[in-house]
Amino acid sequence: MAKYRILVIDDARYIFKAVKMALEPQGFEVVGHAENGKIGIEMYDKFKPDLVTLDVTMPVMDGIETAAVLFTREPPPKIVLMSAIADEGLRKSARDIGIKYFAPKPFTPEMLCQKVLDCLSDA
Ligand SMILES: [Mg+2]
Repeated sequence: MAKYRILVIDDARYIFKAVKMALEPQGFEVVGHAENGKIGIEMYDKFKPDLVTLDVTMPVMDGIETAAVLFTREPPPKIVLMSAIADEGLRKSARDIGIKYFAPKPFTPEMLCQKVLDCLSDA
């Protein structure tokens, strides 16, 4: 199986590390970490990852704005939105721009892997 390549966009370095620790033992390759959406978009265009884990609250450019830009790319990116906030308004804004997969913070490695696999297998 080809390794799925993952980009982490999150201003918290410990989340990047936690995502890496959750996914790499399962055979995923974490190809980069961006600390805000603006850098994340640059890295997305450079690395063309199979999936992005995307934080909501970040400086410079937040996760919703970032996803809106990423969804202009072809083919559309696979995104798992990660947030500590279980806010229905936030989820609605996210769904409105096309995000279907959400992971809570904190997460267990199993929970995150399952979300990532669900998102990757979505046609
Ligand atoms: Mg954040």
